[in-house]
Amino acid sequence: MIPGSFEYYAPRSIDDAVKFLAAHRDDVKVLSGGQSLLPLMKMRLSKPAFVVDIGRIPGLASITEEGDHLILGALVTHAQIEASELLRKKCPLLPQTATTIADVQVRNRGTLGGSIAHADPAGDWPAAIIALDAEIRVTGPNGERWVKCDEFFLGLLMSVLEPDELVTAIKVPVTGNDKTAYTKAAPRSSGFAVVGVAVRIGLDASGNCGRAAIGITGVTDKAYRPARVEQMLIGKKLDAKTIETAAAESTRNVEVIEDINGSSEYRKHLTEVFLTRAIQEALAR
Ligand SMILES: Cc1cc2nc3c(=O)[nH]c(=O)nc-3n(C[C@H](O)[C@H](O)[C@H](O)COP(=O)(O)OP(=O)(O)OC[C@H]3O[C@@H](n4cnc5c(N)ncnc54)[C@H](O)[C@@H]3O)c2cc1C
Repeated sequence: MIPGSFEYYAPRSIDDAVKFLAAHRDDVKVLSGGQSLLPLMKMRLSKPAFVVDIGRIPGLASITEEGDHLILGALVTHAQIEASELLRKKCPLLPQTATTIADVQVRNRGTLGGSIAHADPAGDWPAAIIALDAEIRVTGPNGERWVKCDEFFLGLLMSVLEPDELVTAIKVPVTGNDKTAYTKAAPRSSGFAVVGVAVRIGLDASGNCGRAAIGITGVTDKAYRPARVEQMLIGKKLDAKTIETAAAESTRNVEVIEDINGSSEYRKHLTEVFLTRAIQEALAR
């Protein structure tokens, strides 16, 4: 369980990090919390010749409010999110999701940016940020670009990130009166989602659903938005029948995976159950 040898570089600026990535783009890995990268390196599933530790770059670990949005730096840890009073008030879905990740040790080291860049199909953050219609700031040799989270994840551990680009921040909305919840079925051993569902529901003046945004993780090779379910909820009174009928569509057109944690039939069933539960939990808040 000892990684292969590599050259370690700890830049003090995003510019320097990006230059180093560009110079070694075929054989370099970014290190944030190390909670996914280091196990892979120790098992020799990843053998980069160069590792760029971005942990000493200032300004990447803050949570700030900008108008009706919140900006979270890439190095903000799961634990920071869990403990943030600002997020509890302005975007409670994030602290709630953080509490479901692994254990205290992992939450103390693991970062939001690292999780998103890693694009693990069972990671919790991808579902939460889809439900929040978040945007991801990507910084590379040509400067910055903002990528909508729906367009960021491409498949198993794959995203639109180029090898010389960094995730530097995540922008989420202040959710105001909207109701949010994250529900997750996970084995105790790892805590990774077999199914994880994040929802954001906005009710209009007559109590009907005016906004529905849903992110689902653990079910297929990347987190996804069940657009048909969202459409079936919007404009309706969210009674038990409406929620159940919509939830039945949650895996439509999705290739549901099967693994040691469950068959695809089981995952489909869990997705419907946890989606229903997430909506009910959100409405009860
Ligand atoms: C025992 C255990 C249980 C876990 N359980 C859960 C769980 O229940 N839910 C969950 O969601 N996660 C879980 N995780 C994963 C954990 O959340 C990690 O923190 C996360 O996946 C990666 O974040 P990191 O900061 O540790 O990234 P790292 O491990 O440092 O990096 C991960 C990958 O992303 C790249 N990378 C990192 N940061 C950036 C960046 N800013 N820009 C570009 N590329 C970058 C790295 O090069 C690497 O390829 C678990 C991990 C462990 C060890």
